[in-house]
Amino acid sequence: MKAIRIHSLGGPEVLQLEDVPEPAPKEGEAVVRVEAAGVNFIDVYFRTGLYKGPALPFTLGQEAAGTVAAVGSGVADVAVGDRVAYAGVHGAYAELAAVPAARLVKLPAGVSTRQGAAAMLQGMTAHYLACSTYSLKEGDACLIHAAAGGVGQLLCQVAKLRGARVLGTVSTEEKAQLAREAGADEIIRYDQQDFAAEVKRLTGGHGVQVVYDGVGRATFDKGLDSLARRGMMVLFGQASGPVPPFDPSLLNTKGSLYLTRPSLGHYIATAEELQRRAEDVLGWIAEGKLKIRIGLELPLAQAAEAHRALEGRRTTGKVLLIP
Ligand code: NDP
Repeated sequence: MKAIRIHSLGGPEVLQLEDVPEPAPKEGEAVVRVEAAGVNFIDVYFRTGLYKGPALPFTLGQEAAGTVAAVGSGVADVAVGDRVAYAGVHGAYAELAAVPAARLVKLPAGVSTRQGAAAMLQGMTAHYLACSTYSLKEGDACLIHAAAGGVGQLLCQVAKLRGARVLGTVSTEEKAQLAREAGADEIIRYDQQDFAAEVKRLTGGHGVQVVYDGVGRATFDKGLDSLARRGMMVLFGQASGPVPPFDPSLLNTKGSLYLTRPSLGHYIATAEELQRRAEDVLGWIAEGKLKIRIGLELPLAQAAEAHRALEGRRTTGKVLLIP
């Protein structure tokens, strides 16, 4: 079968399409015939070595949807032929992927396989950020960076479902339009404007209750200045680079702030929590409450181009690879 493997850490050029042996399911595993694999910023971190992956060479990719092709012993919850999706297991940039069956979620009728592949990682992230890390409620205002991105568009929508006012940052007019369509009430062009000053102006000087920051180095400091007293900085990624070490007493001087650095893995650690979050997200999609916007779909062989576009800020919404 074909898979995108890396033999060394580095730029997009290390992504290579190769013939590799088909996986056989071990005990507790299912083999999924991948119909669409999600591209996520975390794939860039594993490719460059910012996050430590399995021993080289390995197959990149953390998210896919498709059909169960085979099951190992002890697997009772899924069967051959089921349409399934998953996130958080290495090896998705491939025609077939062996996945612990407990990590699979069945796709309901009304959710296409492509939507499933697009919804799992970024959709459950939007869900835990807005519903668990800082549980948004009516009357809250939040700042969402990169609001037209994969997580960004979904987070805007979930924040609106929870009744919050959404301020979103973007870097182009096209992205501004997409963030508005995703529900952002106010758009800030952080490439042109001082976003902290804009947040203060738009909130009557108070600031927002929560900043959702997946951009990192470029936005972190000013994000702290955008928070209301006792507000929460949710640093969930570093698309612009990692945030350098900082002095915790800043949280005091800037208003008894809270800081958390969450990961999806810790919010879907148990099978029960995984299924509950996935059911919410997939249910919203089936009901039309959550719109998945697939901004770019490329053949598996063009994984490097997908990474260049994602890192080059040229993508909006979801990026998929089709084996
Ligand atoms: P996006 O689709 O949001 O792409 C990244 C966006 O970040 C770009 O489109 C761009 O939007 C913005 N950006 C700002 N500065 C830069 C820069 N220097 N280089 C590249 N992009 C930049 O990606 P994802 O939705 O996949 O991920 C968004 C963030 O969420 C990432 O940091 C990712 O790691 C994180 N994440 C964290 C999870 C967790 O559980 N902790 C789970 C999932 C994602 P613009 O042009 O508008 O500035």
